[in-house]
Amino acid sequence: MEFELPPGTTALVEQAQRVARRATEQLDVTEDAWLIGTSRAFSEELGGLGWWGLTWPTEAGGGGRHPLERFVIFETLIAEGAPVASSWFADRQIGPTLLQYGNDEQRRRWLPDIIAGTSAWCIGMSEPDAGSDVASLRTKAVRDGEDWVVDGQKVWTSGAAEADWCYLIARTDPDAPPHAGLSEFVVDMSTPGIEVRPIVDNTGNAHFCEVHLDGVRVPAANLVGALNGSFTQVMRQMEHERGGIDRLVSNRRLYLDALESAAPILDRRLRDEAAALESGYRIGRLMVLREVLQQAPRGFSAATKTWCTEFEQRVAAFCARVAGPEALRWNRVSRNICYAPAYTIMGGTTEILRNILAERVLGLPREPSMR
Ligand SMILES: Cc1cc2nc3c(=O)[nH]c(=O)nc-3n(C[C@H](O)[C@H](O)[C@H](O)COP(=O)(O)OP(=O)(O)OC[C@H]3O[C@@H](n4cnc5c(N)ncnc54)[C@H](O)[C@@H]3O)c2cc1C
Repeated sequence: MEFELPPGTTALVEQAQRVARRATEQLDVTEDAWLIGTSRAFSEELGGLGWWGLTWPTEAGGGGRHPLERFVIFETLIAEGAPVASSWFADRQIGPTLLQYGNDEQRRRWLPDIIAGTSAWCIGMSEPDAGSDVASLRTKAVRDGEDWVVDGQKVWTSGAAEADWCYLIARTDPDAPPHAGLSEFVVDMSTPGIEVRPIVDNTGNAHFCEVHLDGVRVPAANLVGALNGSFTQVMRQMEHERGGIDRLVSNRRLYLDALESAAPILDRRLRDEAAALESGYRIGRLMVLREVLQQAPRGFSAATKTWCTEFEQRVAAFCARVAGPEALRWNRVSRNICYAPAYTIMGGTTEILRNILAERVLGLPREPSMR
């Protein structure tokens, strides 16, 4: 079997490496670049290269290029730690959602800025009492004339403090069964009534936030897709969120640096571990490639995300073992060890994803107590 990518992609990888190295020269932390590495200037630079919306149809303003090209560019950029976060959510899932569920007017309105790298988006899904169980969301939107009026609270909203737009899910039919009364809106983050409170995580970073919405008026034209149809739409959006290369390479640079510094001290145990990680990386990459090439069955992204994010946690543990007592001081390694539990929580926890795999992909019966 031949797993090499087409020859044309090599030049793109080299270009992405050059772009990333220039962008990361002055950065202390290059891990988790797709989530915490915000830079409007870098987003615009990538927009200038045509790297946002690279695979989207040309009639929608996208690049119309092959998904493998996008794959190698972002594998390289994110593994190198390039600060793509200001545009990543928009490129990974908002654009594809607007392409699938938005109308022409919405695509004309929002896609050009995403493609140019000039608009930042956040995702307003989770709430204090609704994370894994999206169906229990309580933020509500009530129709009032030409607007919807939104009240409620979101939490863990990554990038909300710098976002121009929020892709928000709210309850629009309180009388429908929980999963059937939700709708999706694009909310302008400068609308009166929105208050964003950043939350400091255990690494000292404050990328995610509480978002409080008090009487926020959202034009009816900003409803995306079907009224009360969010549940199906959001499942599709999660496939984009879970199946990509970002879930595998968040701490790739740290691993490669650790491997280099470990060379003189590689005892048998570390060698075995490195060998297992090398195979693990290749397995994860093949899983992502199945998604990229649309060869994965529906729901497979649950397996991809589970494998890839557990792999990232193994990488963090390996780097700490290589660092030895140095990992007790505050540095890139200890930062990553503190951050690593988040990998298997964000975007759907590993327990939930295993449930999805068992029930929806493998068709196994539910536990009697869970029925
Ligand atoms: C770094 C980071 C960034 C994030 N960014 C965003 C964002 O931008 N936008 C956004 O909307 N959200 C975001 N989130 C929130 C994330 O999606 C939720 O944290 C996640 O879905 C889990 O929800 P929860 O925290 O409410 O935990 P809960 O749903 O309360 O779960 C708690 C524990 O119970 C387990 N559990 C729950 N139900 C079941 C079940 N049925 N079977 C087995 N086990 C179960 C879970 O696996 C977990 O271990 C982010 C989270 C993190 C950590």
